[in-house]
Amino acid sequence: MVVVLKPNIPKEKRNELIREIEAMGVKVQITEGTQTSILGLVGDTSNLNKYRIASNEIVANILRVQEPFKKANKMFKPDNTIIEVAGRRIGEGYFTVITGPCSVESEEQIEGIAKAVKTNGAAFLRGGAYKPRTSPYSFQGLGLEGLEYLKIAREKTGLPIVSEIMSPDLVQRFVEDVDIIQVGARNMQNFVLLKELGKTNKPILLKRGLSATIEEWLMSAEYIMSEGNEQVILCERGIRTFETYTRNTLDLSSVLSIKKLSHLPVIVDPSHATGHSWMVEAMTKAAVVVGADGVIVEVHNNPAHALCDGSQSITPEQFSGLMDKIKKLVEIEGKVLVE
Ligand code: PEP
Ligand code: MN
Repeated sequence: MVVVLKPNIPKEKRNELIREIEAMGVKVQITEGTQTSILGLVGDTSNLNKYRIASNEIVANILRVQEPFKKANKMFKPDNTIIEVAGRRIGEGYFTVITGPCSVESEEQIEGIAKAVKTNGAAFLRGGAYKPRTSPYSFQGLGLEGLEYLKIAREKTGLPIVSEIMSPDLVQRFVEDVDIIQVGARNMQNFVLLKELGKTNKPILLKRGLSATIEEWLMSAEYIMSEGNEQVILCERGIRTFETYTRNTLDLSSVLSIKKLSHLPVIVDPSHATGHSWMVEAMTKAAVVVGADGVIVEVHNNPAHALCDGSQSITPEQFSGLMDKIKKLVEIEGKVLVE
């Protein structure tokens, strides 16, 4: 439920109303506009005395929020969220490119790729230290050693780092080591993990689950936000359909759905969505045009010998060409390409 206040209400009167509502057993989240404030009511609102609230002299309107997600809901916060990480922005008005290999393979590999993508305008470096592989016999990532190499690459290039977490016991370590914590598609509904991440103040890149609906995806964001961490970046990475020619089916319309339903930034992963390196550029361009706030793209110095996801990885040279192409598109969209 959302309570819209009349314009220019003194703070004391507003706080009095908030105390009254909270005494009814729900939490109140305030969104301040230039003239009007909005009170978002979080919790079980079924037993609230709505008439008492509506009849308060400072209340202009009461709106019911149908969707089960509250903090992620655009009704609660009409202005889109912009997340700032290490001086770089993700959200409305900006287009942010996160790039790097699927997995960190060695110190030289991640450093080499980091330097190449930095030269070509990447805003963030990605690299998996912990890899959720379908087969237990596949390369599982270098673990903590991988995180150390990422930190070295950050130090040498100045690029902030993004890496995937898989279990709650590593939350503190990731908070200390990385700039954005990625939650992969397979862990989108690892609620224990989401709650732990909600207690941190790190931005979380939340990928859409393999077969998750938009509402399930937003409810996962809600898990993080309900614990206090409102810095969530959503990532559309393709969903599972009957089609097998592509690794997944890129649901570009989800970007539009998210923009309508939520104030959170949403980016696109054209690499995992397609599984084919030759599709990545076109899908990145499509992501810009559909209104995504950025992309996360896999780049590898030697895709044919990559330990993970080589077939969908583009080379640093291809990445350079891609950046040239999207620069113009981002400009046409009236956005700033984040560097
Ligand atoms: C990844 O980013 O390397 C990854 C494993 O992605 P997803 O969780 O989207 O499959
Ligand atoms: Mn990958």
